[in-house]
Amino acid sequence: MICPKCGAENQEGSSFCNKCGTRLNEMINDALEDNKMKQSICEENEGNKEQDKGVLKERETAKNNIEKNMKELRNPPKDYEEAYKLFVDLYSLYGQIYSQAMSPQGSLMTYNQDINQKSSEFSQIYDKIKVLEPDIETKAKKK
Ligand SMILES: [Zn+2]
Repeated sequence: MICPKCGAENQEGSSFCNKCGTRLNEMINDALEDNKMKQSICEENEGNKEQDKGVLKERETAKNNIEKNMKELRNPPKDYEEAYKLFVDLYSLYGQIYSQAMSPQGSLMTYNQDINQKSSEFSQIYDKIKVLEPDIETKAKKK
């Protein structure tokens, strides 16, 4: 075993360090190690929880913003009607992805398939909107 004070290697079961004379009590050292490990595992878990909360909060805020924008886009001028309809489609897909992400259903495999399918539908509709409104991405970035 290794002396906790000087780091010297000692024979297993020694009562005292052969270099510095520190009392070597395996049981205490093991308990300390065990405790440290438990502590760091707990801290890690706490950290993850905080992170999850942050991500969920971000998603919620994003959803609220999108809902607000959708309401503002209601009754668009004639020229934008087509784009608006696509936005409504996009919005409903987004809602489905959002609720799947917030409270996942099905197995991991069906969940992934579902999300993948919805994501590709999402980008298809998004591409259509880009054709109607070619500078939509530039506009979005300026905001
Ligand atoms: Zn020592």
